[in-house]
Amino acid sequence: MNVELINTGSELLLGRTLNTHQQWLCRRLSDHGYLVARQVCVPDTGTSIQQAVREALDRADIIIVTGGLGPTSDDITRELIADLFQKPLRQDPAIVAGLREFFARRNRPMAESNLVQAMVPEGAIVLPNPNGTAPGLAMKVEAGGSKIEDGTGANTPSSILHPRSPRWLIMLPGPPRELHPMFTNHVLPLLQREMPTETFICRTLRTTGLGESALQEMIAAPLSQLVSAGLQLGYCARPGEVDVRLAARGPTANRIVGEAADIVQDLLAKFIFAEEDDELETVIVRTLTAGRLTLALAESCTGGCIAHRITNVPGASAVLLAGMVTYANVAKTKFVGVRPETLAAHGAVSEAVCREMAEGVRRETGADFSIAVTGIAGPTGGSPEKPVGTVFIGVSSSSGTVVSKNLNRYEREAFKQITAQQALELLRRSITG
Ligand code: ATP
Repeated sequence: MNVELINTGSELLLGRTLNTHQQWLCRRLSDHGYLVARQVCVPDTGTSIQQAVREALDRADIIIVTGGLGPTSDDITRELIADLFQKPLRQDPAIVAGLREFFARRNRPMAESNLVQAMVPEGAIVLPNPNGTAPGLAMKVEAGGSKIEDGTGANTPSSILHPRSPRWLIMLPGPPRELHPMFTNHVLPLLQREMPTETFICRTLRTTGLGESALQEMIAAPLSQLVSAGLQLGYCARPGEVDVRLAARGPTANRIVGEAADIVQDLLAKFIFAEEDDELETVIVRTLTAGRLTLALAESCTGGCIAHRITNVPGASAVLLAGMVTYANVAKTKFVGVRPETLAAHGAVSEAVCREMAEGVRRETGADFSIAVTGIAGPTGGSPEKPVGTVFIGVSSSSGTVVSKNLNRYEREAFKQITAQQALELLRRSITG
């Protein structure tokens, strides 16, 4: 099954909008066995969109076009595709009624330009959009009858493309909050019904604390037999994390992926923090919530990054009591009780100060667990004994305080991300013992 994705919008090519549809759609499609073979991004001009669709028709079984279905003058996808396939556009009364209701419910007058969104190419299936005004469209591209030119303007017999087999062309609105539910609720069921793929199983095990190559060395050889039997093994490294992706197709896919997952879980047990899309902070909030345990943070060099990640998780309020950014020495003393003598004797970036920060913030807040971080993000401020990148991470609980020393030699933002990741992982291991 050959899938191609065409993202339209000049704002994407001007760098004004990040093309998140590419990542989001490719991920959802591949999770269900539809692998995107090619993706292009084109400006919202007539020739570019038509040319991209025409080229994709040569290769693809499923073509997904995003953007350009709205009511403004640059929203031309619907008209161009109807023109390409020589399908007349007809106004759909149900969409018109839906548009009028959409504006009435919001107490807003409806500009007549909105009616363009009710135009449907003959034969297309309308994909409802409860989150916006532009419905999506799905067209089965049948053989023959298409005005598919070769770009020279001549509509000669040799320039007419005769499709090999029925293909689907799907048009989705640009705004992510409209596209995501439309894809999940309408496009995926349609594809599974009309263009089913063979069984495809994919599992992702998320690890932290190991580099990509070290991890590969641990699992590649033990998995080699399953790879010969059809296992697709993939790695995806991000700051502080490596995902292991195990996938297979066909009737034996379930068994192959299951056996592979067992092997990886055995070999990497302590490094695996989650499966699929769970983030480390999600796992932590879930675990603390289940145990009715609380958390407090005293951050210095991470500047609130750990608090940010924890508070991104819905339900964090049941867990997080306080997150303090005690950046200056005086703040470390005043808010989390670091002793001035400790600061004077060891310096702010030291095991002793980190320990006092962790214990102090736990004492001040009464939390069950605490994290403290102090380090040198750079680019200046290092010394031979404490080079740039030195960081101390402490976790304190009723079982005691552990402090680890790491050297994170990355630019400032990556330093913060990786340090936050290490701190969360130290906490996770402390909670789970
Ligand atoms: P609208 O009714 O909003 O005009 P539309 O279907 O015409 O919807 P566009 O005008 O192409 O869609 O895009 C609308 C908005 O959706 C853009 O301003 C942008 O914020 C967002 N958007 C469009 N394409 C993408 C993309 N590939 N990735 C992320 N966001 C996108």
